[in-house]
Amino acid sequence: MEGNPGDQSRYGRQLGLPGVGPEGQARLAAARVLVVGAGGLGSPILLYLAAAGIGTLGVADPDTVSLSNLNRQILHGPGDLGRPKTESARDKLAAFRPDLDLRLHPRALDDGNATEIVAGYDLVLAAVDSRESRRVINRACYARGVPWIDGGVDGFEGLVSAYRPPGGPCYECLTRGAPDLPGRVPQLFGALAGTVGLLQVQEALKILLGIGRPLVGRVLFYDSREPRFDVVEVPPDPSCPVCANARSPGINHRGHGEHGV
Ligand SMILES: [Zn+2]
Repeated sequence: MEGNPGDQSRYGRQLGLPGVGPEGQARLAAARVLVVGAGGLGSPILLYLAAAGIGTLGVADPDTVSLSNLNRQILHGPGDLGRPKTESARDKLAAFRPDLDLRLHPRALDDGNATEIVAGYDLVLAAVDSRESRRVINRACYARGVPWIDGGVDGFEGLVSAYRPPGGPCYECLTRGAPDLPGRVPQLFGALAGTVGLLQVQEALKILLGIGRPLVGRVLFYDSREPRFDVVEVPPDPSCPVCANARSPGINHRGHGEHGV
């Protein structure tokens, strides 16, 4: 990267930032980042990670593009209807960043494959719409020691948080016992997915570059109607079956029932 005039011009507007510079830019070029979901959150996330100069991007999504996706899923267009989202994403991202190393995972992550997939990356961004998908990502990331950034959107509201193994709190600490909402298709202010997805990107870049204070142990809530941001601190659950073990290897904290949320 050093001495490459093409890189200098493409990333020239961020190279002067404290914490970036040629060293930080080289760190981004060496980084391998997985985005789980190439939809409303995943579209802006993938574009801005590519724009920032991330070297290797993984795209995981089992779905195909449908018409109702297009109020927010800006990686895809009418010509992509019926195509796998991973392929549509690949075409746009390769055109935007021809030097990008793209890895496609056209399938849903589950406990059988997530740990192996996650192990190939330095950081994961969840752009999914179910608690179960987040739990799968959380378990895999804590098993492999990979930090991950969550984002969620519903209606006019969104939230963002960051998880950094082996420390807690993890997603399980926050949501233990909370049920999933099967079959529910939320209505959504489309641009909200851009706001929340790009907050996730900034958290990811902060962690990769060691800048600022990531949203670890905190959840950022956004209400676009007011508009208003709130940040709430969340403690680790000392009996969490995911991160309590990660924090204290060799000690089994698997208790059950003490924290019926
Ligand atoms: Zn936990």
